[in-house]
Amino acid sequence: VAKAAKTAADGAEAPAIVGVLGAGIMGGGIAYTLARNGVQVPMRDIADTALDAAGEEVDRLVAGEIKRGKLDDAKGADLKARIAGSTSLDGTADAGLVIEAVVERLSVKRTVLAELEQTIAPDAVIATNTSSLRIDDIGAEMIHNDRLVGMHFFNPVPRMPLVEIVRGTHSSDAAVARAVATALKMRKTPIVVADCPGFLVNRILVAYINAFTKLVSEGVDFRQIDRVMEAMGWPMGPALLQDVVGMDTGAHVIETISAGYPDRMTHDWPDAVVAMSGAGRLGQKSGKGFYAWS
Ligand code: NAD
Repeated sequence: VAKAAKTAADGAEAPAIVGVLGAGIMGGGIAYTLARNGVQVPMRDIADTALDAAGEEVDRLVAGEIKRGKLDDAKGADLKARIAGSTSLDGTADAGLVIEAVVERLSVKRTVLAELEQTIAPDAVIATNTSSLRIDDIGAEMIHNDRLVGMHFFNPVPRMPLVEIVRGTHSSDAAVARAVATALKMRKTPIVVADCPGFLVNRILVAYINAFTKLVSEGVDFRQIDRVMEAMGWPMGPALLQDVVGMDTGAHVIETISAGYPDRMTHDWPDAVVAMSGAGRLGQKSGKGFYAWS
């Protein structure tokens, strides 16, 4: 994999400035990991509360690294100073790459990219962190869709090594190479995958979550399933995973993949899951999901 990634980077350099749009679960983790590896990160969200929460998460991660002796106070302060949160897009004008990590809604992503195309440098690359939407669909209304690629990180970003680099029909070789080089700079393991609903990993994960959902609807306790999967060696079970991912994001992903592969990816939400989402039990980010978080 490492050799293939070097080949895919094709000698490209990671940019010194990488913008991040969306300061949620993923945007915050992406910004932290970039800054941890020396990159300047202008980060934009439309909500001050999201920027504040991302700042707190960065503080928590830096404090953990200082405690473990991986960073000293001065380096921790430098890392934090490399991330500049804002509600404006201005900071992204000098970025060589901008990673979009806003909500998993096609219409929102298209609007955000249209706005971004007005402000970024002509040769800047745009990467979307979508977990299931096709790159060709996200880029359908762009002026320069050859600059768009997928950079699909996994949650939590600082800990998960894999990044799927998604090549759309129109993605240029240079855009793919810059995304691969940036993932390598972040000390991740990039793999280049084809553009289809769910790419590679989530087509496997959704089948797994569907199997979990079926068991729960048959009356099996979700905690028991989590314990079994943890005992099997997985870092977390499927209920905890959905709490960490967010029920809303997970539902969009499952719907997109089920629509993309109706013959083999049907889903059947149990009443409990529908009721949880309706009641705002979105998982860790809302304080309650399968588990209570506060
Ligand atoms: P989230 O709900 O935690 O954060 C989304 C953020 O986008 C919010 O802070 C919101 O205010 C912001 N936003 C909305 N419109 C915006 C705009 N116009 N400009 C800037 N910011 C805007 O969502 P998340 O879990 O971080 O997911 C973000 C993306 O990452 C989605 O495409 C999702 O599919 C993908 N993803 C999520 C996971 C996961 O485990 N949660 C994993 C991989 C990929």
